Amino acid sequence: MATQLSEAALRDQRSQFHPFTSITDLMTDGPTVMASGSGVRVTDVDGKEYLDGMAGLWCVNLGYGRKEITEAIAKQSERLSFFHTFNGMSSDVVAECAEALLQRAPVPMSRVFFGASGSDANETQLKLIWYYNNLRGKPEKKKIIARWNSYHGSGVATASLTGLPGMHTLFDLPKGPIIHVSAPYYYRNAPEGMSEREFSRQLAKELEDTIEREGADTIAAFFAEAVMGAGGLIPPPEGYFDEIGPILKKHDILLVADEVVSGFGRLGTYWGSQTYGYEPDLVTSAKGVTSGYFPMSVCFISPKVWNVIEGAAATAGLFGHGYTYSAHPVGAAAALAALKLIDDLKVVDNVADVGPYMLQQLQDKLGQHAHVGDVRGKGLMIGIELMKDRGTKETFPMANRTGRQVLKAAAARGLITRALGDTLVFAPPLVINRAEVDELVEKFALAINDVMPA
Ligand code: PMP
Repeated sequence: MATQLSEAALRDQRSQFHPFTSITDLMTDGPTVMASGSGVRVTDVDGKEYLDGMAGLWCVNLGYGRKEITEAIAKQSERLSFFHTFNGMSSDVVAECAEALLQRAPVPMSRVFFGASGSDANETQLKLIWYYNNLRGKPEKKKIIARWNSYHGSGVATASLTGLPGMHTLFDLPKGPIIHVSAPYYYRNAPEGMSEREFSRQLAKELEDTIEREGADTIAAFFAEAVMGAGGLIPPPEGYFDEIGPILKKHDILLVADEVVSGFGRLGTYWGSQTYGYEPDLVTSAKGVTSGYFPMSVCFISPKVWNVIEGAAATAGLFGHGYTYSAHPVGAAAALAALKLIDDLKVVDNVADVGPYMLQQLQDKLGQHAHVGDVRGKGLMIGIELMKDRGTKETFPMANRTGRQVLKAAAARGLITRALGDTLVFAPPLVINRAEVDELVEKFALAINDVMPA
């Protein structure tokens, strides 16, 4: 954060209304304005270089400046810059992309539906679920269960689905038929002495009690990220999905895997659901599908859901839903190039190697720090939760904004992290190597000590 703001920063500051940004901070510190990127690094307009520990917003999985993707985008823009998919239209590159995606699905899937963001994809899933239950003669089965601390988007419906109260207040969102159950937040919420497995059982019991209270015939779906991202970097406790999966099946409740962050290798398997061994009925993905080079989202639809939709096609009204930019041909070209790179560069194998290494390095360097309460994560989704007192788990006063102080100290040292309250998170490009991980950990440890010496 420069003390003297650049022309670009001033222009931005007086013109742009930023998402999820404190206006006071923006006016005090100015925006950090990036100008270029290469590999795992970005450079701002003042020429300062940063190691991007967040891959943009958990999306630039293949790193910056990938010629294979930028050239595919340029070529497709010249050949056919746009065509849509309404009323039975399509484009060759979209057809190829849809097929390539189905080949990579975590479980056999029947169709993909395209959009431009994770939020719009989850809006699609909600409408798809309600459409499906109407078509199969279960109009009462409409409620949706999500978890506190989840993040599923910021549209009107998906912000309600998201389990972060800060996104509900001040907007008068229509809550709709959405119910939240407890987050699988072992570190903060498990009773003292309870094992992870016991905690998973407790959460499964809460879910089952909720279903029984509401009536299974009123509940349509359960949404879950594999590892919770924006709500605090929360991996599930051991056995969590094993415990809840059968309950959902028993009550004919669809499992929607929100793989917007965890898809395409982030956890060290191609899909997060594979890391934890559960079988989704619907999958939401975005971000990594084009590595952030083009806005694109993909909903995967299982045979169970698709067969109902296709079976009712002759008599039901059509699926009156879609976006101008659903299945954008330039996005499809970007996705095809990104999917090929994920395979060619063996990105998933890299995460399976580098992810545990990074977690270990962070634990070794910071695990004993007086103010580091928990270092947790899976693959290349890692969080470090700060505590005023790690013994009693007393948190810092909110007003201290300790997480933000560390974020700023890291930025000063040329490292981008993200502060979710006092949990600092990392989700670097999936192509990061061990030497770059060492550099990240080193810079982060220094930043922590800048703010609070051990
Ligand atoms: N689901 C998850 C799990 C996410 O992390 C996000 C965004 N970080 C979204 C949905 C929403 O995606 P978008 O910001 O592209 O709308």
